[in-house]
Amino acid sequence: MSALPAPQLYGKYGDPFRLVEFRLFSFNECGGGCAHCYYRKTDNRVERYDDVLALATDLRANGFQLETCYLLPTDVFENDFNYDIFRDEKLRESLRSFRYVGLASTLREGYDARFLDSFFADFPGQGIELHVNLIEARLEDPAYESFLLAQLRELRTRYAGRIQINLALNTGAKHSERELGTLAGFAERGSDDRILELNFTYLFNAKLPKATRRDLLRGSFPLVRFLRAEMSRREPALTERTLLRKPSFVFKDGRIFLTPILPFDEYLFVDDPAFTLSAPSFDAYLSTYARLQAENLPVDDDCENCPELRHCQGKGYFMAAHHYGLGCHHKES
Ligand code: SF4
Repeated sequence: MSALPAPQLYGKYGDPFRLVEFRLFSFNECGGGCAHCYYRKTDNRVERYDDVLALATDLRANGFQLETCYLLPTDVFENDFNYDIFRDEKLRESLRSFRYVGLASTLREGYDARFLDSFFADFPGQGIELHVNLIEARLEDPAYESFLLAQLRELRTRYAGRIQINLALNTGAKHSERELGTLAGFAERGSDDRILELNFTYLFNAKLPKATRRDLLRGSFPLVRFLRAEMSRREPALTERTLLRKPSFVFKDGRIFLTPILPFDEYLFVDDPAFTLSAPSFDAYLSTYARLQAENLPVDDDCENCPELRHCQGKGYFMAAHHYGLGCHHKES
């Protein structure tokens, strides 16, 4: 292992599990029309897959296991040229070092079996983690639920052992009690992990004023709290995942960002140079992390005596809270 610029951080948070996620903004053109999608849908491309490969290789050399490489931000099945990126040799080599390739789709017109068959033939060692975005306008339509569950059943049967499926939702709406119950029902019946993955699409849109992004993020907290309470009935919702144990890197517009985590356990995005890596390397990651620690300070008078302090701190929530001007995520609404 190379010399650590911030060795005390490992001492502070304990031995990391050393898992890592990448999020690559490469996909384009999407007609999915999901509510609350603020993603840019053209001109997404990661021009330097050599950076992806370099960081993946260096993290492995430093003992990290590469868990999921998500290819984002649009629906993989919405156009054929999304598939073109799989021809890039550097990307192919990178994907082969991950356990899963992460993809998203609404499945509004089903799935492309030809693409999935060819993916699994090309990448015999990898699984797919599929996030299926719920179409909010159709949540109360019984025909929608039957169609969706039938698609999921078919995918699970056809690609048994190779595909992990969870339902997903764009945050940004305020939900009534009844809608929250409906969402919980979908997650229960449709997701392998009985959870709903949340997307914070507005955080990735630099054209939205920062105050708008903050308000939308703040407005998502009741949903996060509801889902956390649902999960807590089955198992502890707060994991030991931290930015050291399980960092996530976003590759977007030629830059690499380290992304803080909102407990429980959603990766956010902060479009600020302070969150970027100066190079695709393990040392650059630790330097960024160490620099951000200066901002990772409690945001509420209650933090000091709060049982969740180590989670909020270890996951880097305070970094994001300071950037957006937020307080405790339990109190914000
Ligand atoms: S932000 Fe809220 S949950 Fe986190 S440590 Fe502070 S008081 Fe506790």
